[in-house]
Amino acid sequence: MQILDGRKVADDLLAHTKEEVRILINSGIQPKLAFLLIGKHPASLSYVKQKEMACQKTNIQYEHHAFPETSSTQEIISLISELNHREDIHGILVQLPLPSNIETPLVIKAINPEKDVDGFHAYNLGKMMLNKNFESLTPCTPKGIIILLETYKIPIEGQEIVMVGHSNIVGKPLSMMLLNRNATITTCHKYTKNLKAHTLRAEILIVAVGLPSLITGDMIKPGAVIVDVGINRVDGKLVGDVNFEQAKEKASFITPVPGGVGPMTVACLMANIVIACKKLTQKNS
Ligand code: NAD
Repeated sequence: MQILDGRKVADDLLAHTKEEVRILINSGIQPKLAFLLIGKHPASLSYVKQKEMACQKTNIQYEHHAFPETSSTQEIISLISELNHREDIHGILVQLPLPSNIETPLVIKAINPEKDVDGFHAYNLGKMMLNKNFESLTPCTPKGIIILLETYKIPIEGQEIVMVGHSNIVGKPLSMMLLNRNATITTCHKYTKNLKAHTLRAEILIVAVGLPSLITGDMIKPGAVIVDVGINRVDGKLVGDVNFEQAKEKASFITPVPGGVGPMTVACLMANIVIACKKLTQKNS
């Protein structure tokens, strides 16, 4: 069994991004991200901190806009409109989830798709539906998982892949991106009957649910590649959705939690900022 070392692959990707940023800065362009944080959700604060640290590592500038929990959808959209028009801003990131009084789809829709570095805007998701060549600003976790598989030379084409979880940020876009790479993909979710019957067929099993130990050893095909996206806190410890101790006896490759998918997500955000910055500055020159 081999560990899919997301931390190492992410560090290499960050180093590559830093080099791209250096070249941009030398040509007079400073990539810059605007963060919008609404409320004080503890997990969101921690994710924003990690993203800020990655910006510092890669020399991407950032500015931070904090809104109180009680802000209105319109107040947030007004700031997004301003940021959309600012030439010095290349990426706009609204940290999700938003408080329940805010209409998340309207907020995402307000972002200029060219600055949508999270890849959640319907325009970018729609382009991704066409084929691989139209993928550009794709959601960071799916992008990171594909880079991780590719780095370890794990074939995707023709493979039987089971995706557990169908969220708009992981399961659905990742299913589409894997289909773009000619995998045979089954997407399972809360309403799937007999989850085990599906997971047992998986040559690559990807799990993004948010339930510790949802996947136990008996649900894994011997030799499968396991990608655990889940982040759960159990007794103060971070664990995934897969029972790691049982899975490692069956799997050929497995991502650890922490140190697997999480660092790849952050590194892919930095890569997306550079993609957006290059496209925007080419367009304006
Ligand atoms: P979500 O919370 O929006 O949705 C959960 C998904 O799991 C849904 O598709 C639901 O139908 C499915 N589900 C729920 N119960 C199930 C069950 N018993 N059997 C099968 N499917 C079931 O999903 P999300 O936002 O993609 O987050 C999922 C997990 O991934 C969370 O733990 C989250 O913290 C983590 N996450 C990690 C990263 C990372 O970078 N590592 C990024 C995003 C999300």
